[in-house]
Amino acid sequence: MKNKKALLLVISAPSGAGKSTLCNRLVKHYPHMTYSTSCTTRHPRKGEKNHEHYHFLSKTEFSTRATNGEFIEHAEVHQNLYGTLKQTIEKALSDGRDIIMDIDVQGAKQIREACKKLPPQDPVRVGFVDIFIAPPSMEELRKRLYGRSTDTREVIENRMNNAEDEMKQRNHYQHQIINDNLNEALGELIQVIETEKQSRKKRFF
Ligand code: ADP
Ligand code: 5GP
Repeated sequence: MKNKKALLLVISAPSGAGKSTLCNRLVKHYPHMTYSTSCTTRHPRKGEKNHEHYHFLSKTEFSTRATNGEFIEHAEVHQNLYGTLKQTIEKALSDGRDIIMDIDVQGAKQIREACKKLPPQDPVRVGFVDIFIAPPSMEELRKRLYGRSTDTREVIENRMNNAEDEMKQRNHYQHQIINDNLNEALGELIQVIETEKQSRKKRFF
């Protein structure tokens, strides 16, 4: 029988906090977990592959999909558009597979609010777990963004400005993890997932 209690893990963090690094490690630890590939109008970074890291869309393609109601959530982040296709989430959950969404604080808020209006047994509501990954300090965040060498100074400073506002949202999340030591943060993330899996096993429906 398919797992009707698959997790929908919504993970947010200021850019550069280490969310992608942690999500990649998580998928290696849980090989059956699906990573939700988002749509974006941002240009691909060096090494990023279409349909793997993102579905890279033009602004027109993105807004057509938004108008057609194809996104479960979408938002403008750092002056680009990002969105998650409903189909990606529905497919994973109906197959009984845990899925990770790496999305910003606005997208997480949209899903959180939508869950409140869903019936208690809806797979999105059953699976929903939100986690905020914080950097140990803002100086370390800036260091990581420059160290990653994927963005211009202008892009990095824009992301640092947005980080202050994103950090203010962290108390809305069920779980918060500080990514100081990578292995320790990964361990905490796995612990959260195991606890959430256990709590669902005890529910009768
Ligand atoms: P995000 O997806 O949140 O934007 P990344 O996963 O790309 O961030 O990480 C940003 C940079 O910080 C990368 O160069 C990554 O290797 C590095 N990094 C991630 N976690 C840590 C950590 N715990 N300690 C030091 N550097 C880290
Ligand atoms: P990046 O451009 O660094 O890949 O991502 C920038 C920000 O966009 C990150 O905070 C990331 O979590 C967020 N993001 C990625 N995909 C989505 C999505 O589908 N929806 C929303 N709302 N944010 C997303």
